[in-house]
Formats: sequence, structure tokens, C-alpha cells
Amino acid sequence: MSMDQQHIPDIIGSISFKADRRQLQRILHVRDDSRYLPMLMDLVDEAENYARPKAVYREAYVEEGGEDWVALDGKRFISRIMRVNLEEAGRAFFFVATCGRELEEWSLTIQDILEKFWADAIKEMALASAVRALEEQLRQRFQISGISAMNPGSLADWPLTAQPDVFAMLGDAPLVIGVTLTQSCAMNPVKSVSGIYFPTVTSFASCQLCPRENCRGRKAPFESELFEKRYQVSQKAG
Ligand code: SF4
Repeated sequence: MSMDQQHIPDIIGSISFKADRRQLQRILHVRDDSRYLPMLMDLVDEAENYARPKAVYREAYVEEGGEDWVALDGKRFISRIMRVNLEEAGRAFFFVATCGRELEEWSLTIQDILEKFWADAIKEMALASAVRALEEQLRQRFQISGISAMNPGSLADWPLTAQPDVFAMLGDAPLVIGVTLTQSCAMNPVKSVSGIYFPTVTSFASCQLCPRENCRGRKAPFESELFEKRYQVSQKAG
């Protein structure tokens, strides 16, 4: 795939991972006096030896847009929410971040059901390290203070079927960090995340537009009137 020199994706391949053991204990309900604690700590020690979280990103500029679409570096994305979010930003950073294939393959060797469950939480933590490192690099390199993200599949406005478009903007780089797409547009390793980051004055999270209750991943409260106020297409008199 050809990609002009200026837009070759950057790879962050040496992200350190040190699990927050206290937080893991809290998430997994393993108390200090639990007989399972030594088992969990052994598993975390082992995971840290394997974990190599990674990320790729690429800057792209807004070229034109309609009511519910926006073109970035020659590719059209259908999403009213993206179109409004990028109006002021003028650019976006396509990205994929992952817990890493090394940790994924290590977790596949685990047979015990409880340890498998714990390994999942550790992989989520490794993914969070990759996301933090990526956000930090974007903030420093591009001198961005406010930064927000959108991920395909979070909202119906930008469904999971848009995932291949995000990958297409990154060329072969996702493959280089070991992330592939399945036929149903899910990512492998599962503990990976993709989408766009964009600079913002007012912060945005898809969760603000998502009414789902009891979601463990919620990053912001649901705002029932936000769509109408900020994203609805104005009805012009015919
Ligand atoms: S509330 Fe949960 S499901 Fe809804 S956008 Fe946020 S993370 Fe996704």
C-alpha cells in the first residue's frame, strides 16, 4: 500500500507495563487475606514478563464535509457526530492501541478458568497503558491540551463496520503491532481499541451520547439532550 511520506503512521512499540496490583485486587475482589492472593500475584509477575503493549497513529486533515460526512486525507467517513466534532479541530489522529500479541498468546496458554478471568483483567490494564502512552505522545508532540476520542462501534452513528476504514488509514502498521481484523470487524487481540483522537476545547466521549446502563467502560455520564443541542441536523424551512 502506498502512503505519502508525510503520513506514514508512527509506531509506539516500547511501552512499559507495570500492573497496578492494588487496583487489580479491587477489580477482581481478591482481598489481602485471601488464599488466592499469592496465585494472583504470581500471575501478574508472569504477565509483566510477557507484556509488550503497543500503539500506532497517523495524523490526517479534514478536507471537506457535508451534513453527515467528513473527508480526511481523501477518505470519506460517514458520521454526523464526527463531522461536528472535527469542525473546529480540522484534523484527527487515526489510531490502534493494543495489549499486545505477546500477552494475548501467553493468556491462551492458561487453562484454569479463574486465572483466565484474571488474565483478561491484566490484559485490559496493559491496553490502558498503551492508551495512556499514546495520549501522552499526542499531547506532547502536537502540543494538544484537550484531547477526545471516537471509536467505531461505540455509537450507531459510526458503527463497527467502519473499523476497516480506520485500519485503511493506517496501512500495514496495525499488522506490524500484531493487530488484525476479523470478518465481523472485531479486533484480534480483543483487548485492542481503534478510532480517532482529535483536539478539543470542550471534551467529548461517546458515552455522553450512549444511554446504556451499568456499563463498566463508561467514561462520562449520559447527557440526554446533548445530541439535540450539538449534533442534530438543523431543519431548514423548505
Ligand atoms: S457507555 Fe459503555 S457502551 Fe456506551 S459508549 Fe460508553 S463504553 Fe461504550
